[in-house]
Amino acid sequence: MPLISNNVPKINEVSQLTYGIDIGGTKIEIGVFSSELALIDSWRAPTPTENYQEFINTIVTLVNEANVRYEKKGMVGIGMPGIIDKNGLVKSANIPCATGKNIIEDLSLALACEISTGNDCRLFALSESIGGSGDGYKRVYGAIIGTGAAGGLCIDGHIYHGRNGFAGEYGHIPVSAYLIDKYNLPILACGCGLKGCYEPYVSGPGLGWLYEHFGARTSNTHHFVQQLNDNERIATTTFDCYMDLLGASFVSLILSYDPDVIVVGGGISKIDKVVEMLPQYVDKHLFTGIDCPPIIKAKYGDSSGVRGAAILRTQLVEN
Ligand SMILES: [Zn+2]
Repeated sequence: MPLISNNVPKINEVSQLTYGIDIGGTKIEIGVFSSELALIDSWRAPTPTENYQEFINTIVTLVNEANVRYEKKGMVGIGMPGIIDKNGLVKSANIPCATGKNIIEDLSLALACEISTGNDCRLFALSESIGGSGDGYKRVYGAIIGTGAAGGLCIDGHIYHGRNGFAGEYGHIPVSAYLIDKYNLPILACGCGLKGCYEPYVSGPGLGWLYEHFGARTSNTHHFVQQLNDNERIATTTFDCYMDLLGASFVSLILSYDPDVIVVGGGISKIDKVVEMLPQYVDKHLFTGIDCPPIIKAKYGDSSGVRGAAILRTQLVEN
């Protein structure tokens, strides 16, 4: 008797498949979703970062594999880091070969179908606002605190893009002068080319930098968490300063968007104490009498990229 895996999809029950493709700096992941947004399957390929034609071919191969595997032609939604304008022009990405290219035009042609594209952090917010931790709230802000610090706002389950497509980039708001002075911190250069943004202080590498700055012999955040749990002095000093900075950065986004809920994802969101204590540190920097909105952990975490990309594509059909 053949062994049947639980993962074998009931293809006949699926009327329409949507592929969410999450393009990262090192790998490209495809997620196959049913029309009810159930993840059926996913797999990955390495990201070609230097050769644009290879980059396009890798995505086409992933889509063709899915079409063959499920004997259907799925709809395609793409998520990637950087700013992609409404015409598909990639303006800034950590995939050098894609910068300056029109990814919507090139991929639509190569795949012979209509595609949608979005920024990966905005798609994280979209995924959490529909069926995720932010479900049921009108204005959901999704904040990634990981390699970088970025996010996005969704209103009624739709991304608020703004004029340039970068609404939600809270990591590039200038850091509070009051906190730089309070902790006697240097002004750090940011990956975006500016100086004094929040990101180099509040991202995962930022936490590691602060830990070393306050005297630790390592910037390893796992080491930091262990020491924090032991109430070690350098770790608690770092935590206080880090949470003050992160809280103030969240106040900037609360003042800008006034969301009903903030859903957090990324590596730092896995440190329970950070998420638990964050509202208290936000309140320190908010107007008296104004409460911090609920701050909760993401439901979909690492699969938010493919899920958000698939949702965005289904919304293209609805509109
Ligand atoms: Zn910046």
